[in-house]
Amino acid sequence: MQDNATTKPCPLCKSPGRFHRLVDEYPLAKCTACGFVYVDVSDQHIEDVTFNYGDSAKAHYAESQSIIDFLWFDKISRKLTAGKTNLKVLDIGCGNGVLLQQFQKRGCDSYGSDPSPWAQDCVRHHGYKMIPTIEKANVDPDFFDIITSTSTLEHVARPVEHLTEIIRILKPGGKAYFTIPNYGSLPIRLRIVKGRLVAPPGHCSYFTTRTLRYLFTRQDYADKIAKIKINSYGIPESYGIYSWFSRKLKRSKKKPKDTASAPPKAEAKPKPDAGRRVDSKALLVGVYYWCGRPFGLGDKLEATITKA
Ligand SMILES: [Zn+2]
Repeated sequence: MQDNATTKPCPLCKSPGRFHRLVDEYPLAKCTACGFVYVDVSDQHIEDVTFNYGDSAKAHYAESQSIIDFLWFDKISRKLTAGKTNLKVLDIGCGNGVLLQQFQKRGCDSYGSDPSPWAQDCVRHHGYKMIPTIEKANVDPDFFDIITSTSTLEHVARPVEHLTEIIRILKPGGKAYFTIPNYGSLPIRLRIVKGRLVAPPGHCSYFTTRTLRYLFTRQDYADKIAKIKINSYGIPESYGIYSWFSRKLKRSKKKPKDTASAPPKAEAKPKPDAGRRVDSKALLVGVYYWCGRPFGLGDKLEATITKA
C-alpha cells in the first residue's frame, strides 16, 4: 500500500482514496476518481457516533438554532407545500422537530426519522409519527409526497444506498429537499477556519456542488430522477458570526442596569401602515441566502430532486 493511500474506498464510486487532511486526529480522504471527501474510518465507528447523540445534543440544538433557521424552515415548508393538500411528509434527521412543526402547521401528515433516542422522545412529545432510520423502516414504495433532509446527509456514511431508499419511498413527481454543509465554501477552500462544518467523525461525508451532482446522477437511480436543482447559499461561516454576536449580546444583558438615573422610556412610535412596511424577516433571510449564492462559495448547499 502506498504511504498516502487510504483504507476505505470512496463511498460514492468505490475507487481508492488518498489522504487529504487530518482534522481533530481523524484522517479525511479524497477519492482519486470523483474527488469526494470522506472520513477514513469504518462505517461502524461513524454509526456508533451518529446514532447515539445523547441529551447534550438537545442543548446543542437549542443553542445553535437561530432566527435564521426558524425563518428558513418556514420558507422551505411554504415553498414545498405550495398549492398542494393532503401531503405525506418525512423529515429525515428531524432532531427536535422544528421543521416538522412547520409542515404540521400547513396541514401535512408529518413523519420524523432520527436514530438518536432524545430526538425520538422530542418528536413523540410533539405528536408526530416516528419511523426508524429509513434503511430499517420498511416503508411502502411511493409513500411520501415530500422528503426533507436538512443538515443530515453529511452524517450518512453510505450516501448512495441512502439516496436509493429515499427515491424508492418517494411518490412519482414527489420532491426531496436537502441542505448540507458546502465543502467548497470560501472559508473551507482558503482553509481560513475549520468551522463547525468540518467535524469528523459525526460529519463523515463532505460534498461540493460537483460531488453532490455526481451523487444524484449515478446510474443506480439516474432514470428515476426527473429534475435536479443545486445551489449554494448562506453567508460563509455565518454560524461563527452568529455565535460571536450572541455571546456579545448575552454579556451586555448581564450588566446591571442603573434604573435610578435611567431616563424615562420614550413612548412607542406608532407602526407605519402595513402597505408601506418592509418585511424585515424576509429581508433577513434574503440577505443571508443571496450572500452565499455567487460562484458556489456559500456556507451550505441546497438541492431539490424530483422523482420521475
Ligand atoms: Zn469517488
